[in-house]
Amino acid sequence: MTDHTDHGFATRAIHAGQDFDPTTGAIIPPVYFTSTFVQEGIGRLRGGYEYARGGNPTRDALQEQLAALEGATHAVSFASGLAAEDALLRAVLRPGDHVLMGNDVYGGTHRLVRRIFGDWGIGLTTMALSDPHAVRTALAELSPRVLWLETPSNPMMTVTDIAQLAELGHAAGALVVVDNTFATPYLQQPLALGADVVVHSTTKYLGGHSDVLGGAIVTSDDELASTVQFQQFAAGAVSGPMDAWLTSRGIKTLAVRMERHSANAQAIAEAIEGHAAVARVHYPGLPTHPDHALAARQMRLFGGMLSLELVGGGAAARAFAEGTRLFQLAESLGGVESLMNYPSEMTHASVRGTELEVPDSIVRLSVGIEEADDLVADVLQALARV
Ligand SMILES: *Cc1c(COP(=O)(O)O)cnc(C)c1O
Repeated sequence: MTDHTDHGFATRAIHAGQDFDPTTGAIIPPVYFTSTFVQEGIGRLRGGYEYARGGNPTRDALQEQLAALEGATHAVSFASGLAAEDALLRAVLRPGDHVLMGNDVYGGTHRLVRRIFGDWGIGLTTMALSDPHAVRTALAELSPRVLWLETPSNPMMTVTDIAQLAELGHAAGALVVVDNTFATPYLQQPLALGADVVVHSTTKYLGGHSDVLGGAIVTSDDELASTVQFQQFAAGAVSGPMDAWLTSRGIKTLAVRMERHSANAQAIAEAIEGHAAVARVHYPGLPTHPDHALAARQMRLFGGMLSLELVGGGAAARAFAEGTRLFQLAESLGGVESLMNYPSEMTHASVRGTELEVPDSIVRLSVGIEEADDLVADVLQALARV
């Protein structure tokens, strides 16, 4: 196993956990399609593997790659982002505990804590995490076991200060969790900023090609990592070998993809800001974005996600969402192809009627890595027809 700790991000993305196969020289390590491993004698394991729920070399390769990208010592790969979140929460929460969460987190995260963990005696409070005084007060009142944040947020692209919240959370004795799905480790390093745990839906940018579901928990806390690993082993939400391999393969191009996603999103944001049909563009790369300075400090680039508010309200937003040709109307994000989403009825339908509800005038774009000119032209032609 080669040590890549001194290597730059793109090098780690390609090489960490991805050593060639020593028996054949195959540059790409084999995908281990196997449920069990033959033992030399009772309890005498070859290479430490026993049964695939407990460990599989393809999953281990991905885990090593993920840990290297976040500057962590451990990563645990799951069948989906929500499976990863579920295992983490079960590892750290006990009945009577409380979770304090940003009021703009992924709707599925909110649903998981409110509707699943709520039945097991877990309290949930959501709030805007932008005002440190309000956060400090809430932390003091609630003594939450977990402070959960997501930045940039979905779909309003609010940026929160990870270093500041980590400090506040730790002072109150909370475990600080950052969902780094939107930014990816290429753009943002939450553990280096003080967070305890990073959560990923690898379904999005890490996989990057809209062909696989997955999730991960990443941390340098040995004890927490082994508790999460035990949850996974005992409850079983592992990623399969093909899923792990597709994700590893996607990750190798993460750095170049994120450069292009960010450049394309910036081009679109600039092209539509001030357009007569557009009330507001939410993109942290625009100097007019309220969190632009914080984003510039905390992130390498501003990412591929943006949302816009249509002057014509819900009707215009629907017409725009259905009026693009290259941007395809679908849930999810982070793939090489551009996607269009109407949050209030698609990704955020599960939080309608809650404090996480998204206005019906908002449309969200996952900007792909096609030619910027083609994407800008597509958005402009759809805006011209709303
Ligand atoms: C998609 C997503 C999740 C959930 O991940 P799945 O892989 O769909 O289970 C969690 N957080 C964010 C920010 C997401 O976009």
